Order: sequence, then structure tokens, then C-alpha cells
Amino acid sequence: MDLRETEAEAAFRAEAREWLADNVPRTPLPSGDTREGFALHVEWEKQLHAARWAVVSWPEAYGGRDASVWEWLAFEEEYYRAGAPQRVTQNGIFLLAPTLFAFGTQEQQDTLLPRMSAADDLWCQGWSEPGAGSDLASLTSRAVRDEDAGGWRLSGQKTWTTRGAFCTHLFGLFRSDPESSRHHGLTYFLVPLDAAGVTVRGFARLDGDEGFAEVWFDDVFVPDDAVLGGVGEGWRVAMATTGSERGLTLRSPGRFTAAVDRLRQVPGVDEDRLVQAWMDAEAYRLFTLQQVSNEQHGRSRLGESSLNKLFWSELDIRLHEIAMDALGPEAELEGPWSKGFQFSLSGPIYAGTNEVQKNIVAERLLGLPRK
Ligand SMILES: Cc1cc2nc3c(=O)[nH]c(=O)nc-3n(C[C@H](O)[C@H](O)[C@H](O)COP(=O)(O)OP(=O)(O)OC[C@H]3O[C@@H](n4cnc5c(N)ncnc54)[C@H](O)[C@@H]3O)c2cc1C
Repeated sequence: MDLRETEAEAAFRAEAREWLADNVPRTPLPSGDTREGFALHVEWEKQLHAARWAVVSWPEAYGGRDASVWEWLAFEEEYYRAGAPQRVTQNGIFLLAPTLFAFGTQEQQDTLLPRMSAADDLWCQGWSEPGAGSDLASLTSRAVRDEDAGGWRLSGQKTWTTRGAFCTHLFGLFRSDPESSRHHGLTYFLVPLDAAGVTVRGFARLDGDEGFAEVWFDDVFVPDDAVLGGVGEGWRVAMATTGSERGLTLRSPGRFTAAVDRLRQVPGVDEDRLVQAWMDAEAYRLFTLQQVSNEQHGRSRLGESSLNKLFWSELDIRLHEIAMDALGPEAELEGPWSKGFQFSLSGPIYAGTNEVQKNIVAERLLGLPRK
């Protein structure tokens, strides 16, 4: 594998760097997990889209540039290096979109993807329920067939829905076969949050931002074309989404290599720990490149994205701890590192807890016995 950039890749990177240097807001936007901050982030996402930087690896017809994965990774590095705003469209463009490309009908792709890349439709993830987190297969939200109306009626409750109070659409898992249990009989639905019978209530995270929501479905009608990937196929489709969430699309290496660069500017930072952090971020970058190469040669291994998830979530905490220790009591007053530290602590929980990822690595990658 040749890690050197081709001329075309270097030109792509340079174009991205230049555009970002000219356009990234000089003053950081307020948190995207507040209503006001979210709206400003959406404006930024629309600016990205207008310049065709929102979804570089997608086909041009959907707002992209047909860029390769390598170019996308370079764009991500430049994006984080430029200190550009957090992507509030991430659950759509990074989680749902790869699943739509893999399982969506042509019509679903043609209708939903352009609106998603333009930040007209803003998607949130409706999986967790009050009684179903790690054990997602125990979910009880249900979908009942309405033959006359040609669709489904959804009921139940979702929770921990990131930015649910500000989004327009939700992708969620519902039990469509009442006789089924566990991973069987689930269906993946695409639901507009303004449908009759949906109630969304935002609530605050530990840092006070309204980053979460609870979503209730009271006999909500959705037509047949709201099903993604087939009735009863929900688990299989959802596992594709988790692959993107844990793997490289949600947390590309550029996020961590840029954080190490910023760490170097923190006064009094411990040099040994800084060097270790640099090596860790670089290791994650190289691991990711290897994974992309494996994928392109059909050598991907089941459960590999769980390794990514363990690595990036633990690395994120370590990076922030180094900054917090260097800043000492000042850290309380310092915005980005302190806020980032609080959020990093949730990394081992969201996208599937790290304990569960360790089970997956043990069983699927290492082939250890289940008990
Ligand atoms: C910042 C953040 C954003 C989130 N955003 C969303 C979202 O947008 N949409 C959404 O649907 N959900 C979201 N979640 C919810 C998240 O997916 C769940 O919190 C997570 O799956 C864990 O579920 P739980 O909270 O019910 O904990 P539980 O499943 O009850 O787990 C409690 C503890 O038991 C451990 N445990 C459970 N089962 C096992 C096992 N088999 N082996 C070993 N240990 C085990 C867990 O690791 C954990 O430490 C978000 C969570 C956070 C923190």
C-alpha cells in the first residue's frame, strides 16, 4: 500500500484547505446541542453544501464530488485542522446515508439524499428506549400494519435521541412482527418528526445543553416507502448503521490528529504524554488506512469497527485529560477543552458501550467462547 498522495489527491486537499481557510467562521459557533447553536450550525452546513464540500464522497447528483475514500479522509483532516464547526448533520450523512446507499431503493436515495446533503432534512437516531440500550433487541416500540391505508402505525417511546428536539426526521427500529422476539421481526423506519402523533421533548445533558430528546409515537402513520431495507430486516440493516457509527465515518482520524496539534499549544502540557498522544492518534490514522485498504480488497473482518470504537473513545478521553491536567484550575474557565472533556466521557457509552464492544471483539475477532 502506497501512503503517498497522488497529484490529484494533493490538489484536492489543497483546494479544500484553501476554501476552509477562507470560510470557516473566525469565532467558534455556539454549541450545536442548543437550539440557537444548532440553527447556526445548519446555516454553516448549507454554506458547505453550496460549495459542494458537505458530502465530498457522494455522487455529484446528490451534492457530492464523487471523491474517493482517500480524498474524503484528506478532507476530514483539513476540516478538523481548520477548526471548522462540528457537523450537526452527522447522524444523517455519516450513519443513515451509508445505510441508504446500501439498502435504500433508487427512489429513496433520489428523494432523501439530496435533501440530507443540503441540510434541509436533519436526521436523528431513534434506537434506544427506556428499557433497551445495550440490549437493543429487547426494544418494544411497535409497528402495526395498516393494510387499508398502505402503511404502518408506529407506537412506543425512544430516548437519548441526540439533537432530537432540533431535527426534522428520525430513523428508528420498531417491532413489526408481534409474534417475533429478539433480533427477528424488527423493521427500520424513516419517520418525519412532524407526522401526526409524534411528540418530541428535549432534555438537558450533564453540561446543561439540550442535547437529548425523548420521542413518543402515538399511532403514527407512515407509508410503505418509509421502510428501509425490507419488512423484518431491521436488525440486519441496523447493523450496517452501527458499522458506520463505530467505524471510521463518524470519528475519522483527522479529529484526533488535529486535537493533538491543538494540545501542543496548551501551555505546560506534559511532553511525554503529548508524544504518546501523537503516536496514538497516528496509530489510529494508520489503522484506519489499513482498514480502508482491507475493505477495498474484500478483507474486512466482522466486528472490526468495534476495535475502532474502543480506540477512538479511549483516545479522546486521554487527549482531553492531558489538556485538563496542564490547565489545572484554569480548565474550569477554559471553554473548548473543558466542554470537550465532559463530552469525551460519554464516548465509551454512545455508539454501543465499550464493555459490549469488548465482548464483540472477544467473540467475533478473537473467536473466544461466549461465556
Ligand atoms: C452522548 C450520547 C448520545 C446518545 N445518542 C443516542 C441517539 O442519538 N440515539 C439513540 O438511540 N441512543 C443514543 N444514546 C444511547 C446509547 O446508545 C445508550 O446509552 C447505550 O447503548 C447504552 O445503553 P443504556 O444507557 O441503556 O445502558 P445499559 O445498556 O443499561 O448498560 C449499563 C451498563 O451495563 C453494561 N452492560 C450492558 N450489557 C452488557 C453486557 N452484555 N456485557 C458487559 N457489560 C454490559 C454497559 O456497558 C453499561 O456499563 C446516546 C448516549 C449517549 C451517552
